[in-house]
Amino acid sequence: MRPIYAEVNLNTRTWSKVIIPKELYEQYLGGKALGSKLLYDLMSPGVDPLSEDNVFIVNTGPLTGTGAPSTSRFNISTKNVMTGGIATSNCGGTFGIKLKKAGFDGLIIKGKASSPVFLEVLDGAIEIKDATDLWGLDTEETQERFDSSYGKLVIGQAGENLVKYASAASGERVAGRTGVGAVMGSKNLKAIVAFGTKKVALDNEMKFKNYVKKWTRFIKNHPMTGQQLSMFGTAGLVNKTNASGMLPTLNFKFGSWDKAEAISGEALREKHLTRNSGCISCPIRCERRVLFDGKEIKGPEYETLALFGSNLGIDDLQSIIEWNYYCDKYGMDTISLAVTLSYAMELQKNRIKDFGVSFGEKDAIKDVIGKIAMREGIYSELANGSKILSEKYGGKEYAIHAKGLELAAYDPRKAVGMGLGYATSNRGACHLDGGYLASIEIGGSLPVPPTKTKGKAELCIFFQNLSDAVSSAGFCLFTSQTFIPKLLYKLNPSGKAAGMIGNSMLTSRHMLGFLLNHPRLLSMNSMSLVPHAACIKYATGLKINTGKMLEIGDRNYNIERMFNVREGFASKDDMLPARLTEDLLEEKNPTTRVRLREMLHDYYKVRGWDKDGIPTVQKLKKIKI
Ligand code: SF4
Repeated sequence: MRPIYAEVNLNTRTWSKVIIPKELYEQYLGGKALGSKLLYDLMSPGVDPLSEDNVFIVNTGPLTGTGAPSTSRFNISTKNVMTGGIATSNCGGTFGIKLKKAGFDGLIIKGKASSPVFLEVLDGAIEIKDATDLWGLDTEETQERFDSSYGKLVIGQAGENLVKYASAASGERVAGRTGVGAVMGSKNLKAIVAFGTKKVALDNEMKFKNYVKKWTRFIKNHPMTGQQLSMFGTAGLVNKTNASGMLPTLNFKFGSWDKAEAISGEALREKHLTRNSGCISCPIRCERRVLFDGKEIKGPEYETLALFGSNLGIDDLQSIIEWNYYCDKYGMDTISLAVTLSYAMELQKNRIKDFGVSFGEKDAIKDVIGKIAMREGIYSELANGSKILSEKYGGKEYAIHAKGLELAAYDPRKAVGMGLGYATSNRGACHLDGGYLASIEIGGSLPVPPTKTKGKAELCIFFQNLSDAVSSAGFCLFTSQTFIPKLLYKLNPSGKAAGMIGNSMLTSRHMLGFLLNHPRLLSMNSMSLVPHAACIKYATGLKINTGKMLEIGDRNYNIERMFNVREGFASKDDMLPARLTEDLLEEKNPTTRVRLREMLHDYYKVRGWDKDGIPTVQKLKKIKI
């Protein structure tokens, strides 16, 4: 069972089959990790991400489409339009499953078509077809042009116009971050559609099916995945981050907002929710369905609510629902767009430059979203993101990005481990790629002290490695949210016992650091800690366990780092804007800031990188890079 890829050359409009060597499959599994490795091998440094020399890989994990919990996911790997380093973007929808059923685990797309095209992947064959009449359509209109049984991956006008944070859509799901939609646009690639009837092969079908049944029950009975996420979706985080001082407010100036309730998951549920829904084979079903313009659409996630809401000073939920919808239709990442807007609002407030947007004013936003997507007039500048804008207009200290990618919706001054994650994340500031320590620094059932630095490096690396392996196998990362034992949810989160357990996550840092460097000692499989490992084993026949997963994740984190190093990235780029590392939080606790240098020192040491953040020769040899 070795992965089958197709290499497509858009210049010559030809394709050929590629069988992935067994060794690569065992070392990188699929999805994000294998995508990054292939990109590292196939690309030379210095390539412009929007040139024909960029390589665009869309691939699945070995579990994609097997029916295991939350495995409709697929990955895109390419050179990052926002940062110039590595890009990976993960997405739900049906495309990944259909690609696999069509007989391909992944596509490696090279070159640039001389005119708009789409790829049709049908039962083991690929045709490169004319897309002239699709050019100019939004993501919804484009998908409607294809048979409803097809899996689709398309761009809207933003991708065509090379908006740097353009996304790609599959159904209503979005590969949002790092400008993957702009890369498709730069290749004149409007869409990829797939359909097939192939069965996804399983190594031990009986054991796999029994395990999936047991695991699904476990997910449904867990307070986080069985209740909180299905009741409120990620939107349920608004009130929590607000209470813990992590809710980005007015361009990350403050960490809480007195109007947060109006944009909360509770308000969304009470006033707008028609039902919850989810990706195929997902028992968690975190998606919100809401009404807009007489039809049922996907509701906003936490990131969109916070960054269009408190971060712009706007408490109108209906407007946020609408903006979210239009961003998806034009094909733009709501995180980068909203943080670019909050930076522009601060420029306006400081009388430096007026883009017609200001804090608390909602009327212009819908229009501005459209103009950014079409790169109209001065709005074309906003299509480049906050880093490029700050190089022209100044205010670098409040341009909220790392490596050029805007931060997600957790103020790291009250979650310093999340700050370390943003700074070290290979694709730029990303909560998920950064290990998502905000989820335990926020308080609750496993309250890890949010502003302590010692021990955060080890935890950050642990979760970064684990998430990379989970994602590479084809699972949604939310399947990892069961790692906090049910029992802990019974404790008083502000009580002594919960505090002691949370604290022990930091005090056991030396042991965790040791295990991270000797992952083979973790040769067990546990449903409660890393349920994915056994599932991968039964599906693929690979000898996977918890330690092997950490090893795969570590290898991927390092190959991605090496891709960035080759492009000139080093310790100097593992940074956050001065507002977060030097300024004082002007509310609540005035002494809080992210003491990044302290944590980076520990982080590099545990990773086996030198003081400039470059993986050492010994480290690379040890993990077989
Ligand atoms: S948890 Fe949410 S995002 Fe993840 S697979 Fe399920 S519905 Fe999709």
